[in-house]
Amino acid sequence: MQYHYDGFHPGDPSVKPQAKAADFDRSAVDVLIIGCGPAGLTLAAQLAQFSDISTRIVERKSGPLEMGQADGIACRSMEMFEAFGFADRVKKEAYWVNETCFWRPAQDGGIARADRIKDVEDDLSEMPHTILSQARVHDFFLEEMAKAPSRLTPDYDLELDGLHIENGGTHPVMAQLRGLNGAADEVVRAKYVVGCDGARSAVRKAMGLRLEGQSARQLWGVMDVLAITDFPDIRLKCAIQSADAGSMLIIPREGGTMVRLYIELDALKDDERAADRNVTSDMLIQRAGAILSPYRFEVKEVVWCSAYEIGQRVSARFDNLGGVLISGDDPHVFIAGDACHTHSPKAGQGMNVSMADTFNLGWKLAAVLRGQAPSALLKSYSEERQAKAQELIDFDRDMAKLFSSKDRKSSDEATFQAYFQKHGRYTAGVETRYDPSLVIARGCDQSLAAGLPVGARFHSGPVIRLADAKPMQLGHVVRADGRWRVILFAPEGDTGVADGAVADACEALSTGPITKVTTGGADRDAVIDLRAVFQQGHRQLDLGMMPAALRPSKGRLGLTDYEKIFCADHSGAGDVFDMRGIDRQRGAMVLVRPDQFVTGVYSLSNHAGLSAFLDQVLLPAPSLP
Ligand SMILES: Cc1cc2nc3c(=O)[nH]c(=O)nc-3n(C[C@H](O)[C@H](O)[C@H](O)COP(=O)(O)OP(=O)(O)OC[C@H]3O[C@@H](n4cnc5c(N)ncnc54)[C@H](O)[C@@H]3O)c2cc1C
Repeated sequence: MQYHYDGFHPGDPSVKPQAKAADFDRSAVDVLIIGCGPAGLTLAAQLAQFSDISTRIVERKSGPLEMGQADGIACRSMEMFEAFGFADRVKKEAYWVNETCFWRPAQDGGIARADRIKDVEDDLSEMPHTILSQARVHDFFLEEMAKAPSRLTPDYDLELDGLHIENGGTHPVMAQLRGLNGAADEVVRAKYVVGCDGARSAVRKAMGLRLEGQSARQLWGVMDVLAITDFPDIRLKCAIQSADAGSMLIIPREGGTMVRLYIELDALKDDERAADRNVTSDMLIQRAGAILSPYRFEVKEVVWCSAYEIGQRVSARFDNLGGVLISGDDPHVFIAGDACHTHSPKAGQGMNVSMADTFNLGWKLAAVLRGQAPSALLKSYSEERQAKAQELIDFDRDMAKLFSSKDRKSSDEATFQAYFQKHGRYTAGVETRYDPSLVIARGCDQSLAAGLPVGARFHSGPVIRLADAKPMQLGHVVRADGRWRVILFAPEGDTGVADGAVADACEALSTGPITKVTTGGADRDAVIDLRAVFQQGHRQLDLGMMPAALRPSKGRLGLTDYEKIFCADHSGAGDVFDMRGIDRQRGAMVLVRPDQFVTGVYSLSNHAGLSAFLDQVLLPAPSLP
């Protein structure tokens, strides 16, 4: 965490100095977000970091979510929480899913443990798979928004009632908001509207789009309970299949005592809704007891209970370039999260994929609104996220089929095993790989960093920071601040001195693309943040010999940024060069976009290739008068 660059400020450093523009015109904003679920709050927390963007987020409920809904937090979402600054709080409060058990019908009646496996592959992520109430995740986002420069807070009791586009003008989208519980109606004009308004999205309907896919909808009974039991694996994630009472998933919850039970019920027919079944907690308790029999299961308190129906469906587009609400060449209305895709809770994807959608969209909106990128960048949101949502749903469906296939031959076992591992990577959220586009480079030299695939999220590794010998994760330098990162991995023997490959790359990049996109007077790393990692141990290198571009002066006082240079960790944590397949002879230059995805891998001398790519996606900074 870095602070004091603009002079000393006492107090909590996570509370950023407040931007002067907090009193913007609330009826004409840059971005209007509909819905305070995980998708809306991720976007709001991202946009709140930029004091020059005016954002409103409205919600029909009267206040924040208090309990229930999703609870599984994938490793990839934890990596994103780290970028927002609250992963440690989640780690501290949450249940960690380290192992999973499978229980099946026993020969002599009842159930027996059939298998117990590691939940997350080794080195899949530096972050654990955790379980924490969705309501707490919302709380953390709300706190980050309130501490951000724009001090963003939601407007509750406001419901979207209509959406129109008037082509031309600076704020083409007009939203009618109905005040609930005594709140006044409002009309808000916006440059961009993002519908994070859940599976029955009014924004999606206004765009004339619908969720398409599987029509049979699975009904799940879900309960958070405090119970007394002699079932031995009650503090482990368990998939339980009984002989005649049905199947159940046990998810232990935070706090050491609570458990969530997911009980699969019969699929809904035709127009039938979950409410028509009158599922009660007593029914679910009885069913859970029968599945767990002969173990004792005595529920002392039902904390939350719901009948939750969901099919695997996806919208054909995630923006208004399809449908009826057309606004010209580039999109102005978007949908994210459950508004454009729904998943079976078995794979634990709903909340995670929803947050990933708006982490993808947030930096793009910010870059366009701040004049750093062309508005065509916004098309890449639907292109990237729709394809991934479809892929995830297809994969989940195939996996479910394979899982329940009764006549699987033993020769299929290897395929099944490989599929099962891939499924683990999907549910961990690290399997996403975007195709080449305006924001993912083509023709890269992937062999220089085989373990950092172009299009996949930047896979972190351990390093030691040179200036203060701090062991840390390299990926944690990628904050949710809208900046691009260029990470230079030094070739063997390079110590950073003049005429070395790293020094040459620093010179070329800082006089080239970095100067081109940085407004005069702004910090040198305001748009592109340059970092380097060396192969030697941290005691073998001299900070004073490092290129000036890696020790820039910043802020009002022109203080030195000492935190851009790292070394491989030789203490046993693992060498990042080996772990991520970096070519030790040639090194590598890795471009990472603001949502932590690897955009390109280049040789250290290929400044021209990197600059040409950046020219497509970043606009030159306006010259000062
Ligand atoms: C009742 C319920 C139970 C669930 N249970 C589980 C579970 O057990 N396990 C699991 O994995 N997932 C569960 N989910 C799914 C999971 O919560 C979602 O996948 C996730 O919350 C999606 O996030 P989102 O931000 O896209 O949408 P949501 O979390 O649905 O958020 C949408 C928000 O928009 C608001 N809104 C809707 N329309 C308007 C409007 N017109 N104007 C203003 N505001 C509006 C809503 O009030 C809501 O706060 C459940 C969802 C629901 C609704």
